[in-house]
Amino acid sequence: MTNHELFQRARKLLPGGVNSPVRAFKSVGGEPFFTARADGAYLWDVEGKRYIDYVGSWGPMIAGHNHPKVREAVERAVRDGLSFGTPCPGEVVMAETITRLVPSMEMVRMVNSGTEATMSAIRLARGATGRSKIVKFEGCYHGHGDSFLVKAGSGALTFGVPTSPGVPAANADLTLPLPYNDLHAAELLFAEHGSGIAGLIIEPVAGNMNCIPPQEGYLQGLRRLCTRHGTLLIFDEVMTGFRVALGGAQALYGVKPDLSTFGKIIGGGMPVGAYGGRRELMEQIAPAGPIYQAGTLSGNPVAMAAGLAMLELVQAPGFYETLAARTRLLTDGLQAVADGEGVPFSTNRVGGMFGLFFTHEKVSSYAHATAADTAMFNRFFQGMLERGIFLAPSAFEAGFLSSAHSDDDIAETLDAARATMRLARAG
Ligand code: PMP
Repeated sequence: MTNHELFQRARKLLPGGVNSPVRAFKSVGGEPFFTARADGAYLWDVEGKRYIDYVGSWGPMIAGHNHPKVREAVERAVRDGLSFGTPCPGEVVMAETITRLVPSMEMVRMVNSGTEATMSAIRLARGATGRSKIVKFEGCYHGHGDSFLVKAGSGALTFGVPTSPGVPAANADLTLPLPYNDLHAAELLFAEHGSGIAGLIIEPVAGNMNCIPPQEGYLQGLRRLCTRHGTLLIFDEVMTGFRVALGGAQALYGVKPDLSTFGKIIGGGMPVGAYGGRRELMEQIAPAGPIYQAGTLSGNPVAMAAGLAMLELVQAPGFYETLAARTRLLTDGLQAVADGEGVPFSTNRVGGMFGLFFTHEKVSSYAHATAADTAMFNRFFQGMLERGIFLAPSAFEAGFLSSAHSDDDIAETLDAARATMRLARAG
C-alpha cells in the first residue's frame, strides 16, 4: 500500500483524510506520508522511506521514538490489564513525580489530552473566582475547547480559521484576546475588565504560532497583574512542560503560576494530560469539592507507565543541557546556510524547541510571525521532505529535537538545507 493509496482511502472516510488537521499537509501542499514505524530520531513511511523527524509526535518524543525503556514499561503494564476503572498505583507515583519536579503543582488531576487539561483549568478558575471572563493571547493554542478557539494558533491559524464557527458568541465573548509579549496592552485590558477576569491562560513560550519566547520581564509582569486583580495565572505547559527545562517554563523563567496544564511528554506518547496547582484551588475539584470534572480512562495504567518511564529518562544528568546544545547546533547551522544563500531567515529556540522564520526580523510577536514568508517556508518544507527531513508541516508550529538526534543527524539536515534554501528563495 502506497502513501497515496492510503490517503485516497482515508479521504473518503475521515474529514480531510486525518484525525487532526495539521497532519493533512494542506497548507504546505502535497499529501501526508503514512508512518509504518518509528525509532530514535527517525520515522519510516509505508513505502520504506526514512525521515529525520523534527516533529516528535508534536512534542512527546523527547527521548526519541520507541525508546526501549518506555516500550518495556508499557509492555509490563499491558500484561496486567489495559484499564481498571479503579485507582491504580501508577497514578499515585505520577502525581508524586509531577509535584516533585514542578513545585507550583501542589495537587494534580490526570486527564487524557491537553485540551481536557486546559478546559478543566478554566472551569476551575471560573468556579474558584466566581468570575466568567478569561484572557488568552492571539496566536496561542490551548486545544479545541470553545473558550480557546478565539484568535487561536496552530491549525486554526494555519488554515485561517482562528475563531471557529460553532463556538457560540455568548461563549467567545467571554474570551478576551491580547497580543503576546505586549505588557502594556495587558495593563490596559486589566484596568478596564480586571475585576471580571477569572483566569489568564498563556503558553509561557509560545509554540503554536511557530516558536516565540517571552520577552524579559513579560511573564513576571503578567504575574503581578494577575495577583493585583485577583485573576488566576494559568501556564499552559502542554508543550513547554519537561521540554524547555525539567521544571518547565515556570522553572526556566522563575515565575509561579496558580494553575498549570501539562500533556505530551508526561504521557510518553500515550494520550495523557494533567492540570494542577495551588492546593486550595485543586481541593475544589470533585469529589473533594463542588467543581465537576471526570474521565473514564483518566489515570490509565498503561499511560501512567509510559509517562513515568519518559519522566525517568528526562531526569538523567545533563539531559536538558545536551538537548539545548544540539538544538542550537541545528538553528545556528540553518542560519549560516540561509545567510550563505542570502535568504531572509531568523530562528528562535528555547531548550529543545525551535522556530524557523523566513524573514530578516528577530520574531517576538504574532504580527512578526505572521508577516514572515509562508510561501518560502512551504517550498523549504517540501524540499527538506524530499530529502528525508520531516519538519512540522506548517509555518506556524514549533519544531522539536530529541535526545536521539545525533550530530550526524544534524549534519545530514544541514546538507539537505544547503540543497534546499536556494530553491526555496527562487520560488
Ligand atoms: N496546549 C498547548 C500549548 C498545545 O500545544 C496543545 C496541542 N499542541 C494543546 C494545549 C492541546 O493538546 P491536545 O492536542 O493533546 O488536546
